[in-house]
Amino acid sequence: MAYSFTQENAFYGSTDPQKLLEKYGSPLYVYNEEILRKRCREMKSLVAYEHFSADYSTKANANLHLLKIVREEGLEADAMSPGEIEVLLAAGFAPEKILFVCNNVSADEMAFAVERGVTVSVDSLSQLVTFGKRFPGHKVAVRLNTGHGAGHHEFVVTAGKKTKFGINDDKVDRIQAIVRQYDLHICGINQHIGSLFMDEDTYVQGAKILFDTAMQFPELEFVDMGGGFGTPYHKQEGEKTLDLAPFRRRLDAVIEDFVSAYGRRIKVKSEPGRYIVAECCALLGQVYSIKENGGVTYVGTDLGFNVLQRVVMYGAHHDLEVYREGKLMTGKGTPVTVVGNICESGDKLAENRELPEIRLDDVIGVMDAGAYGYSMASTYNNRLRPAEVLICADGSDRLIRRRETFADLMRGFDVE
Ligand SMILES: *Cc1c(COP(=O)(O)O)cnc(C)c1O
Repeated sequence: MAYSFTQENAFYGSTDPQKLLEKYGSPLYVYNEEILRKRCREMKSLVAYEHFSADYSTKANANLHLLKIVREEGLEADAMSPGEIEVLLAAGFAPEKILFVCNNVSADEMAFAVERGVTVSVDSLSQLVTFGKRFPGHKVAVRLNTGHGAGHHEFVVTAGKKTKFGINDDKVDRIQAIVRQYDLHICGINQHIGSLFMDEDTYVQGAKILFDTAMQFPELEFVDMGGGFGTPYHKQEGEKTLDLAPFRRRLDAVIEDFVSAYGRRIKVKSEPGRYIVAECCALLGQVYSIKENGGVTYVGTDLGFNVLQRVVMYGAHHDLEVYREGKLMTGKGTPVTVVGNICESGDKLAENRELPEIRLDDVIGVMDAGAYGYSMASTYNNRLRPAEVLICADGSDRLIRRRETFADLMRGFDVE
């Protein structure tokens, strides 16, 4: 293992993984402020077009303190639920900087957004009717499905004919009919074609199709091209960060063509989630047992899928680093299978992985764990969700969410 992301980026600031676990407990989500800010800036300047905004997709990571940093960097935000709207408002996002991209929600949930001044984007004809009945005369956005999808796994392809998302773009007439019936104003259209692409081709083509469709909506305030910008999860094998230069060159051309045809320089948005938060985080855990079963060496840790679900859910890969007494271990031992402490045989973090030779009490660092990590963590097996710590720009460490306690597990039972 020649390449170390944490070493390359002085990830742990003036502390080290061992000290962090001693101070805050294990497992632990550790974030690096500088990397987070850098990723925000890259997305904010994705294109040169002057009315462009990057809307951070909150579901990737909804930590209040990280959201404040994202806001400071000038990003806007996407919410998928009233709960996300709530935390975004608490982080200081103005309501007009939040877009509620909803999927199968109640009229009351739509009202939650509208009453707070948050624009709603609906993603079916029936939801558009629901909105129209409750808010006749209002403005609303629609999520379209242009039949163009992308992604690293079937579960994350969110457009194309076979997904539950969006209104097919051959139904624009039906949209217009509902709009007339309820005197609605379509203020925006958005799409999200999938997640984790590593080149610009699909995204740019998808944007172009969406802009063509946009010509049919005369009252637009924005067109939202979606998120899905990839993160290199295989850095130890030499995978490189997404090259944004071709996005900039090609998207700017597509956008300029569109706005000149449309006749107004309306706002253009994107919705990055993973790209913003994945790489600024390493999840730390500890080795509590090592054993051999049926020819496989199992490294038993506290990094179960209650803490990080992506591997079990998507078959995702995360690079791992090994630390001993605070120092990075190098070299290669015999391949091991790293497992968690959850009572499920599928609870595997890495299978047949060549890592430095591992001993009891070593610390494992799971790289690129910031997106869909903590936000998908659960209390399965009545495990406590870990603390989250920020390595600040000055190298110091700061608690940004406390570890749960048994009291958290007992919440909600006082119903008598
Ligand atoms: C999840 C989601 C995103 C963010 O996707 P990433 O792959 O994390 O960039 C953007 N838009 C919508 C509608 C989403 O559901």
